[in-house]
Amino acid sequence: MSESSLSRIRVEVPEVPVKEKVELNADKSALIIVDMQNDFVKPGGKLRVPSAEETIGPIRLLLERAREKQVMTVFTQDTHYPGDPEFGIWGEHVVKGTWGWRIIDELAPLPGEIVVEKTRYDGFYGTPLDDLLRVHGIRDVVVVGTVANICVLHTAASAALRWYRVYIPMDGISALNEFDYYATLRQVSFLYRGVIVRRAEGIVFRGTGKWKRSRQA
Ligand code: ZN
Repeated sequence: MSESSLSRIRVEVPEVPVKEKVELNADKSALIIVDMQNDFVKPGGKLRVPSAEETIGPIRLLLERAREKQVMTVFTQDTHYPGDPEFGIWGEHVVKGTWGWRIIDELAPLPGEIVVEKTRYDGFYGTPLDDLLRVHGIRDVVVVGTVANICVLHTAASAALRWYRVYIPMDGISALNEFDYYATLRQVSFLYRGVIVRRAEGIVFRGTGKWKRSRQA
C-alpha cells in the first residue's frame, strides 16, 4: 500500500466569533501563562516558535494588569528530565535546570507567584493546578503562551472540561503555522465554548482580586 499525502487539500477556517472586549471579575479569575520558556521563545532555543516573541508584549500587558489587580497568576513550565520519552517526538527540550527551561526574563515570575512544572502538554495533568484554582475560587481563566495547538490547547481544553470558562486573546498565543493557530481558536471556541478576544488589551479585570492579600496573610 502506498502512502499518500493530504498536502493538496485546502480548507477554510470556519467562523469563529471574536469579542473586542471582556470584563472579568478579578477575584474569580486567573491568568495562566503557558510555557513561555527560552527553548520555545528565544533565538537559540531548542524548539523555537518564531512568532512567540510577538506575544511577549501582549502577555506582559495582561501580567501587569493581573499584578495590579491582585489576580491569581499561574506560570506553567514544561519540565523534562534526561531520557524523557517526549524527546522521541520533539527532540531534547526544556531539560530542568538549563537555560532553555527557564521562563523568559520579560515574564519572569515574582517571588510568591505560582509556577506549575508539567511533564506533558496539559497543564493539569499530574499537577496541582486544578486544586490551586479551586482553593482560590477561580471560575474564569485567561490562557496565553505557546505552543498554541499543543500546550495552550491542551491546557485550555483541560480547564474547560473542568467547567472553568476559558478566554484566549488572539495576540497572546503563537504556533508554528497558520493552520495550527486557527485550529486552536476553532477548537477552543466551538468545542470548549471558550471566548476568543481580539487583543489582550481587550481583557480587563474588574474589582480587586484576593491573591496578594492571601499570599501575605
Ligand atoms: Zn515538552
